[in-house]
Order: sequence, then C-alpha cells, then structure tokens
Amino acid sequence: MKDTTADLLAATDQCVKCALCLPHCPTYQHYRDENESPRGRIALAEALLQGQIAMDGRIQQHLDHCLTCRRCETACPSRVPYTRLLRGVRQRWPVRAHWARVLLQQPAWLARAALLARRLPAWRHWPLPIRLARALGPQPALPACGTYPAADATPSRRLGLLLGCATRATQANALRASIRLLNALGYTLVIPPHQGCCGALAAHQGAQLQADACVQQNQTAFADSVETIISIASGCTGGDPLALMDIVVFLAQHHTALRQLSWRPLHYRVVLHQPCTSQAGPAVTDLLAHIPGLQVQPLAGGCCGAAGDHLLRQRRQAVALRQPVLAQIPAGATHLVTTNVGCALHLAEGQRGHAIRVAHPVELLAESLG
Ligand code: SF4
Ligand code: SF4
Repeated sequence: MKDTTADLLAATDQCVKCALCLPHCPTYQHYRDENESPRGRIALAEALLQGQIAMDGRIQQHLDHCLTCRRCETACPSRVPYTRLLRGVRQRWPVRAHWARVLLQQPAWLARAALLARRLPAWRHWPLPIRLARALGPQPALPACGTYPAADATPSRRLGLLLGCATRATQANALRASIRLLNALGYTLVIPPHQGCCGALAAHQGAQLQADACVQQNQTAFADSVETIISIASGCTGGDPLALMDIVVFLAQHHTALRQLSWRPLHYRVVLHQPCTSQAGPAVTDLLAHIPGLQVQPLAGGCCGAAGDHLLRQRRQAVALRQPVLAQIPAGATHLVTTNVGCALHLAEGQRGHAIRVAHPVELLAESLG
C-alpha cells in the first residue's frame, strides 16, 4: 500500500537529528558527506515532500546511492522507519530502471542466458553481466518443477521452494542442496511452475506495481501446494500476503533434528559474510557447527555493496564498498559463505581467478550429510 505524503512527513518528523546512525551508514563512511547519510537523506526527503526543493540529478544521486541495507534503522533510537520512507520517496521519484530489473522479471530467460555465459571460455575481460553469471562456477542442472518427497514424509510437512530470479540463474547447486537437506529433515518440497521473482528488487526501487505483480504471480503459483515457502536468498522477502521464509531461519528451528543426522567431516577454512538482508544473524554459525572439522571465521560487519542491482547501477561505489570485505579474507581460506545471492555474485566476481569458492551455507551442509 502506498503511504500518503502526510504519513511520510510524519516519518521524517521522527528523526531527532542525533546522528547516531551516521557511523553505521556505509555510504556516509565512504563519502563523509551529510547528504550521503541517513539523516541527510531524511532531510532531503522532507524538503522534497514539502515542495521546498525540486528533484534534480544531484539529489537523485544521493538517494540512489542508498543501499537500503537498513543499518540506520537498527541504530536509530527514534525508530525512524527509514526503509518505508525511502520507498515512499522512490515511488514518487522512481529510480531509473536498470535493464537488469527488466531481465530479472523474466527468470527463465535469465537462467538460459546465465547457462550460455557459463559455457563461454574463461576470459577476464568479459562484460560484467557475463562475469557475474560465471562467478559462482559451474552449476548442475536446475531442479525441475515438481514434487520432491521425503522418504518418511507426513502430509503436513510440505514446503514450497522459491527458485527466485538471480538464484535460479546462478545457484542451482544451492537449490539442490536445499532439497536434499529439507528432505533429510522429513519435508516434502514442492517446486511449482510459473513462479517468478519475489519482487523485492522492484519494491526497493519504488516500482510498487511491478513488485505487486511478482507477489501475485507467486501467490497463484504456490496457491494449491503449500503454506510455507522457503527462499534460499536472504534478500528475497516477498510482500504481503506472500510469506517467504529464509532457509537459514527455518533450519535454525530444527537444530535437534539436525543433530540426529549423520555428518561427515569437511576440513575447510570458511569465512562467513553476513548480508545486510539476513535476519538470521548468528544462526548460520550455529548451523555450520553441525559439520565436523569445519573452521568458521566471521568477517567483520559492513555492506559489500551488492544491494540488489546497485552492483550494476552504481558500479564504482559497489566496488569501493566491496574492497574492505574482500581484504579481510585470510590466506588459506577455502570458502566464503554468504546467504544472499547478490552478495555471493558480487564478492565472487571481485576475487578474480576464483581463489576461494563462494557458496551458500546449505551447500556445505548438504555436502557434509552422510
Ligand atoms: S539515528 Fe535516527 S533520529 Fe538520529 S539522526 Fe539517525 S535517523 Fe535521525
Ligand atoms: S539504508 Fe544503509 S546506505 Fe541507506 S542510509 Fe541507511 S545505513 Fe545508509
């Protein structure tokens, strides 16, 4: 539902300009410019909504630079609903649609294009979209639409699996691993045809009609099959009334059952990246603790700069924000684990030559399953 201008102005009023959010904002840390801070963007939004200033290229750029990482919301003592506010502003002054957003609405085409890109010979100068499609390395075939029953499934243990858009194109191995893990826990997985992108990318950019269409498509696709829909990308949120559940959050509710499975050791040195979108927090570390022999080192916080299609639209900023994250990877690390597909692609593309493998935690869990 679209907020009224009065609603949005009420949200800007909540800001007491204390600046406590500034140290948490990646773009403020990068530019050291008030206009690149949450407080500055709230002031710009207020002035725009009140008609005191007109939108121009410079203001649009400050607003577009925002990664919607929500770190400011977590830090804010006044609970300013920053994401809602920015979304409302973008609905009135939309972010220029990047071609990638259009392509992401056609996940089947995107998956075919990514498959072709992975068949090309290795060359470090391929254009960025091709480098991204190849960044996670070879992938198995995408799991076909249909039902994947657990050996001892009960009718109530039925989950839907969202293939997503970028996930479908680049993380078939993680999708297969998810089926295997959830089957091992006794859940039957259903992958209905005609599902699509969750719509989060469009929603973040203020394209609410497009986001609503995505939710509607998935609601229809999953209507007859399941109540809970699992997503393996922590950035895939869906919108009301489509309830998506991050697989990490789901698995974290099943530690007792997971402990009863048989795990073989993996002697990998893993660095763990936590995406801004992840609601799971330490849950990933707890899940990976089921794997004997695994060494896990969390990376310090910080947005990697992927942020939806920001990695394509604001390339220079995305690369600059990625660098400190990559610089933390110690020599000898074998894997970088992250739960969001955008971060995985962006980070993997940044470490050219694929010195370490970038994976979703479920891939390691499934590999370790006896
Ligand atoms: S922390 Fe909250 S109240 Fe303080 S300046 Fe930032 S947005 Fe405003
Ligand atoms: S969402 Fe992230 S990038 Fe945007 S203002 Fe808040 S902290 Fe800064």
